[in-house]
Amino acid sequence: MRPEEPRRGADHNVMREVNRSLVLALVKEGGPVSRASIARSTTLAKPTVSAIVDELIADGLVREIGPGSTAVSGGRPPILLEFNARSQLVVGVHIGARRTTVAIGDAAGEEIVRRELATPTGAGDREPAAVLRRVAAEAKDAIAGAGLPGAKIAAVGAVLPGLTDFHAGVCLLAPNLGWRDVPVRDVLAAELDGAPVYVHNAGQAAAVAENLEGAGERAGDLALLYAGTGLSAGVLSDGRVFHGVGGTAGEIGHNAVPGLAEPCNCGKVGCLETVASGPAIVRAARRAVEAGEPTRLAGIDNFDARDVAAAARDGDAVAGRVIAEAGEHLGLAASWLINAYNPALVVVGGGLAAIGDPLLGPLRAAAARHTLAPALRGVEIRASKLGPDAEVRGAVLLALQHSETYYRVVFRA
Ligand SMILES: [Zn+2]
Repeated sequence: MRPEEPRRGADHNVMREVNRSLVLALVKEGGPVSRASIARSTTLAKPTVSAIVDELIADGLVREIGPGSTAVSGGRPPILLEFNARSQLVVGVHIGARRTTVAIGDAAGEEIVRRELATPTGAGDREPAAVLRRVAAEAKDAIAGAGLPGAKIAAVGAVLPGLTDFHAGVCLLAPNLGWRDVPVRDVLAAELDGAPVYVHNAGQAAAVAENLEGAGERAGDLALLYAGTGLSAGVLSDGRVFHGVGGTAGEIGHNAVPGLAEPCNCGKVGCLETVASGPAIVRAARRAVEAGEPTRLAGIDNFDARDVAAAARDGDAVAGRVIAEAGEHLGLAASWLINAYNPALVVVGGGLAAIGDPLLGPLRAAAARHTLAPALRGVEIRASKLGPDAEVRGAVLLALQHSETYYRVVFRA
């Protein structure tokens, strides 16, 4: 069936959108390109291509850049078309426990401007709606400051450190922010001219960013183990986040492990997160200090996970053991991801990834011990390449993915 020949009238609008997607994708990925060459590549009729191109030009997505070289047939040189990346903006927002980052990207994902601010923590400012309004104001100011006032915001990606419900656009629980059931999508949309807002957790955002720009190298089927203050995972299938029906897929940090008795932030007891996260490392090291074990951590007041990691790197045996145990627990989490999803690649992200070999060595060994041999075949476990940039890049790229959904066609060889 030729693409422009619908079988039934009801298919007509869908076929129009598919044809529009095909033409836009060709201009975007194959441009500069002429109308005639689009017609050849798509097998669409020339008048159909011209009508679609006129529509895309009117929408600002495509522009004419003048004549190319003489046509093969020897006639008038054709007018070439290119994608207009500045026609639309995407906004990426990462609200972290301490820092909040706002990035404005163009329709190709290229970052135009980035702003960073301390996540508001003052008494009144800590109210979630006030934080979100402040973030939206920063985004608007950044857009105006970049000389793009009035540019259309195609989509907003909002990334939160906690449990999120993608479908409802709600942050369900973010203990680090003190947030529960916050309607992030509705508050940001109201502040940003009704732009569509997509709410994700940090693991999902880091998965998309690492896949497209970092350690993932466009693996497509990728699992990102996100280990920081909490533990979660972002799972990608063919480059897209797997959300689940309630939008909470990937929250493996709250899988219970028999034998663990520590209470968790989520209200349950014995979650893996209670032994495989930054706070878990600090608790284990503190227990060792209190037991009188010989470690230089005994001389540091209020040490954090970074101090434990630094001591481990310097050969402190107690700190090394604590980091290795956290790594083993993370390896168990990796084995769950590999057994459940059989990804091409597992990327370790979040703040703990920076610890490097003292954590990753035991992690890889434990993952190999706990994973089914056929599921493990060919799977590589790598550290994040983007580091602390992953969340905000993910926010921008997710906004872009969602804004493009309408026009996206997957070409397969
Ligand atoms: Zn839990």
